[in-house]
Amino acid sequence: MRFARILALTFCLPFLAGVVTARAAGSAAVFTALWSPDVLAAGPGERKSGRLGPPDRSPPEATTFPALPPLPEALAGSIRRVNTHGEKLVALTFDLCELADQKSGYDGAVVDALRAAGAKATFFAGGKWMRSHPTRAMQLISDPLFEIGSHAWTHGNFGQLDTAEMRRQIAWTQAEYALLREKIALMAREKGISEAAIATIPAAPTLLRFPYGRCRPDALSLVASMGLAAIQWSLTTGDPDPHSTPERIVKIVLARVRPGDILIGHANGNGHGTGEALPRLLVELRKRGYRFVTVSELLAAGRPLIASDCYDFHPGDTAQYDRIFGDGTIHPRHKKGPRPQPRPEHPGQ
Ligand SMILES: [Zn+2]
Repeated sequence: MRFARILALTFCLPFLAGVVTARAAGSAAVFTALWSPDVLAAGPGERKSGRLGPPDRSPPEATTFPALPPLPEALAGSIRRVNTHGEKLVALTFDLCELADQKSGYDGAVVDALRAAGAKATFFAGGKWMRSHPTRAMQLISDPLFEIGSHAWTHGNFGQLDTAEMRRQIAWTQAEYALLREKIALMAREKGISEAAIATIPAAPTLLRFPYGRCRPDALSLVASMGLAAIQWSLTTGDPDPHSTPERIVKIVLARVRPGDILIGHANGNGHGTGEALPRLLVELRKRGYRFVTVSELLAAGRPLIASDCYDFHPGDTAQYDRIFGDGTIHPRHKKGPRPQPRPEHPGQ
């Protein structure tokens, strides 16, 4: 039923050979030169996600960033999954959300499990999250296993923001990435790493995940004009639910996974059970013949299934977050009136 609905609401595109470049990860030479395994390992207390006082709306240190060519027409829209013609590829993705009034965490169990298994993945990093976790962000950016996409500056809701604010949410995140990439390059040069190796680290994220899974047609157009592909998901861990357990995540994912899926989880401390589920989940998926690829690799491996709207399971189902989160950048408890209750599958937190 669900699959039929998705098919009805998406459309296949002509084969995209040449449209999508698959190489969008870090550099092994840079990564291994800069960080030892003990420095990379999860530290105590890092996972904790907390609230700041007043919202922090300050810009990054610099707001310039490399311009990207406009997105190819064939990738415009909300990309949910990829028709890989049966090839058992899956893109594991993890969001690093951080609202203006939030200092979210770093869930090292997620990252460590991926590294231990040699599993490729894509992280959608909030710009402000990168600024508040610079070392962890630089490790993710330079790791050849991982691709970094944008998750907007302060988790703005692209169903609500005006054009100027949408542009700022994207631009500041690209700028923060550029600052950290430059810092990585300086550190790598000091270690004698070649310019060729440094150059393999992408100059800018080329993917964006809309916070709350919310968009509007003009948001999709803006993102495309700035050169980014909008990546939704087709399979969820359900990890924002506080009742989520590792067992439940393994069960849900194994029961639902299909070739070409894009799986969403969280690595900012707001995912419940994800890090503990991953070691077993990765083993079980591999037993079933699945290979893990970055989102860019998945896009290059088949025909993306693209919708004209952004949703979780059914069109319109993320619109509820407008009422709960407003412009998205502040946690509801700071707003007037009784605190609304997000549904358990709320994807943004
Ligand atoms: Zn989010």
